Amino acid sequence: MKLLLASNNPKKRAELEAILARYGISGIEVVTPAELGGIDDVEEDGETFLANAEKKALASAAATGLHALADDSGLAVDALDGAPGVRSARFAGEPSDDSANNAKLLRLLDGVAEGERGAAFHCALVLASPGPPPAVLTTAVGTVRGRILEASRGESGFGYDPLFLFTEPGQPGTGKAFAELDPVEKAAISHRGRALEQLVRAFPAALGI
Ligand code: IMP
Repeated sequence: MKLLLASNNPKKRAELEAILARYGISGIEVVTPAELGGIDDVEEDGETFLANAEKKALASAAATGLHALADDSGLAVDALDGAPGVRSARFAGEPSDDSANNAKLLRLLDGVAEGERGAAFHCALVLASPGPPPAVLTTAVGTVRGRILEASRGESGFGYDPLFLFTEPGQPGTGKAFAELDPVEKAAISHRGRALEQLVRAFPAALGI
């Protein structure tokens, strides 16, 4: 069966395909909006990551007639009451700019002590069937805890990775910035990796495969 991944980000596609392979799930062909000639963007105006992912999954399934998988993710900083949250991509304004977002985050946390710089990345995933009417089949959320550094570290990844120090004890990667991990190391512990693993485990029952 074809599964539409509601993203044209090649890294997200590779991550999904790697996890499907790891769980021995065959018979799913992952396709992207670009391969179908493009589908209209959905405005991510929800109050939660899950609401945004649900909206995107339902709209993508309806637009293509395929089962669709959508995600929404972002950073929540304790000292900023959970900001930037669902506004993570456009924290410093539109169009979204990773280095401007990181500079704004450092500015807002200027003078905040190490012990008060706790943060988490969150990822919500939603799998929807095309219907009609389109419907949510299953959802998953993943979280990873860390703290915001006072200066960037590492060159890998994207977004807030250079400022996010992974602090969960006793795990591979503990004590490193996300941008210091290679993609495989990051996927093993990241919010997105954790959510994907949960979701993919639910695929056989949800999709009847
Ligand atoms: P989206 O869910 O791909 O739209 O991501 C929203 C925004 O959250 C991104 O533009 C990044 O700013 C931030 N973000 C989400 N996941 C990560 C991550 O794994 N590393 C760094 N930043 C992330």
